Amino acid sequence: MASGQGGAPTAAAGSGGAGPDEPDPADSINHMLILDLVYIWVGVIGAIAIHRLVLLYVAHTRKMACLGNEKQRYFAMPESKYAAFKRYVLDSPIFRKRHNREFMLSSAVNVGTLPTRLQTIFIIIYYGINIAFTVILLPYGTKSFLDDLRDRAGNLATLNMIPLLLMAGRNNILIWALDISFDTYNLLHRWLGRLVVLEAATHAIAWSVATVEESGWAALWKAASHSQLILTGTISVCAFGFLMLHSPSLVRHAYYETFLHAHILVALTAVIVLWMHLDEFPGAQNLLLAALVVWGFERFMRVQNLVRNNIGAGGTLADIQALPGDAMRVTLRLARPWKFKPGQHVFLYIPTIGWWTNHPFSLAWSSEQQDVFTEKGLPLNRQDVLSIRKTSMSLIIRRRTGFTDKLWAKAEKSLNGKFSIRAFVEGPYGSQDLSSYGTVLLFAAGVGITHQVPFLRSLVADYSNSTGAVRRVTLVWIIQSPEHLEWIRPWMTDILGMEGRRDVLRILLFITRPRSTKEIQSLSASVQMFPGKPDVNAILAQQQQQQVGAMAVTVCGTGSLSDDVRRAVRLRCQTTTIDFIENAFSW
Ligand SMILES: Cc1cc2nc3c(=O)[nH]c(=O)nc-3n(C[C@H](O)[C@H](O)[C@H](O)COP(=O)(O)OP(=O)(O)OC[C@H]3O[C@@H](n4cnc5c(N)ncnc54)[C@H](O)[C@@H]3O)c2cc1C
Repeated sequence: MASGQGGAPTAAAGSGGAGPDEPDPADSINHMLILDLVYIWVGVIGAIAIHRLVLLYVAHTRKMACLGNEKQRYFAMPESKYAAFKRYVLDSPIFRKRHNREFMLSSAVNVGTLPTRLQTIFIIIYYGINIAFTVILLPYGTKSFLDDLRDRAGNLATLNMIPLLLMAGRNNILIWALDISFDTYNLLHRWLGRLVVLEAATHAIAWSVATVEESGWAALWKAASHSQLILTGTISVCAFGFLMLHSPSLVRHAYYETFLHAHILVALTAVIVLWMHLDEFPGAQNLLLAALVVWGFERFMRVQNLVRNNIGAGGTLADIQALPGDAMRVTLRLARPWKFKPGQHVFLYIPTIGWWTNHPFSLAWSSEQQDVFTEKGLPLNRQDVLSIRKTSMSLIIRRRTGFTDKLWAKAEKSLNGKFSIRAFVEGPYGSQDLSSYGTVLLFAAGVGITHQVPFLRSLVADYSNSTGAVRRVTLVWIIQSPEHLEWIRPWMTDILGMEGRRDVLRILLFITRPRSTKEIQSLSASVQMFPGKPDVNAILAQQQQQQVGAMAVTVCGTGSLSDDVRRAVRLRCQTTTIDFIENAFSW
């Protein structure tokens, strides 16, 4: 996949018939198109960054203006053009409603989701640009057409490996800079991968056709078996093809770890062999080097993060406690904690259970733990207390069929359903700030509550300390059985006891599979329980009638709940200011 790459290792670069000292016109065009594509990347990133900066500025000024403002009427009124943009482009599913609800062949076989409208538009335009750049300014009808097409496609494939590898990693600076979630980059990673395979295949086909036309089929087989250039090219195209074929959603979800390990191993093979293939093409090799630096940086950041969080100070311990409803509470006593913020998630490694594998979980709670007595029972002085004060952070993990199942089985077999184990925590990743919204409506289904609990605490604190715009917070939590309340009971007790909570927080619990009607008992006027599923549209309509300031509607749960909430928000976001924030537990 390189510029000026002939059918044999010694082939001369380019094909435009330039003299020995003159730059090859075909190479110059390739160079120009590569630069153009890079300018397009920079332009897109710049435009999204400006959009993000404007949103940050709006949120900041809104928060400041609303600190002592009970009505916040100005901020409840939507800006009509931006609201229409959100409804029809930014928050829109590709068609009417479906985005995050998976297509299921059976209850266990997940064949994927649909991209949003904006994601689809982006992918179509990017493919269009790449197709145009592959076919424009080629010497159609001349002998060198196939050689130039081969070089062009090879160059574009190598160039696209830079964003391909950037978007594969969680330490991608664009996640932070553009506030675009890892799920979206993961989707783009898959589409970029398909594009790289298409361009690499075009490169290989152009070379094959030219070789067969010039010297017959025998020359093709001979080159494939005798030339390192062709052999390495063939292996890397096959490896990229394999990466595409083994990556459908069905495989990824059914055999995640097998998929991930095979994917990384084959990708590494493809890249090493491609490096050898590009030995004589330093320009293209530099593009690949840039892609490798991006990948290496991401891996380095993971290791650096693991060392920082877990090494020294006695390491990190995880206290695991089995809970009713196939769940566990995991309390992480971190060697070096960080500043806890709502919306963060971490990757948990427990080598004795899952070797080097790691799994993402939302941080549900943080608390300061301090044991103010020494082992002999003597009270410690203030300085000692400060030095041993440790922040612990907690997760709620729902049992699935792999790592989480092994962890749950161990907890269940342990005395009182509890055990402690050495763990490593990588993170935190992500965080969200809802403090500039006057009204916040949070939807959660099942274990999706872990994402929402920290917001309840910080929003109620903002209200009582007058440090945010928030005046109304409503949590809608859908669970199968009341026993799932146990997952967050201690934290909810803390939140319900916070100052000002009664004025600002309302909780609506929906129990989808109650064993009897006796189980459905509202705890108070502000904590109510209902049987069945909520009418998302009706809840949003009611919130809108009483809306104070701008409203944030966030959802974390099943794909179908997310799609219902998205639809309800889109139907109403032109009447008052409503922002939709979706959090998914899969990619
Ligand atoms: C940002 C984020 C936050 C999450 N927060 C929570 C949480 O707070 N509580 C909770 O119970 N679950 C959470 N999850 C889901 C959790 O990561 C998976 O349920 C868990 O990794 C399943 O592990 P398993 O080996 O038992 O899965 P399996 O039974 O093998 O697979 C179950 C599902 O989990 C997916 N999965 C498996 N391993 C991973 C992995 N390493 N990375 C991503 N997906 C994987 C599979 O694709 C499959 O769809 C979160 C997921 C994400 C992406």
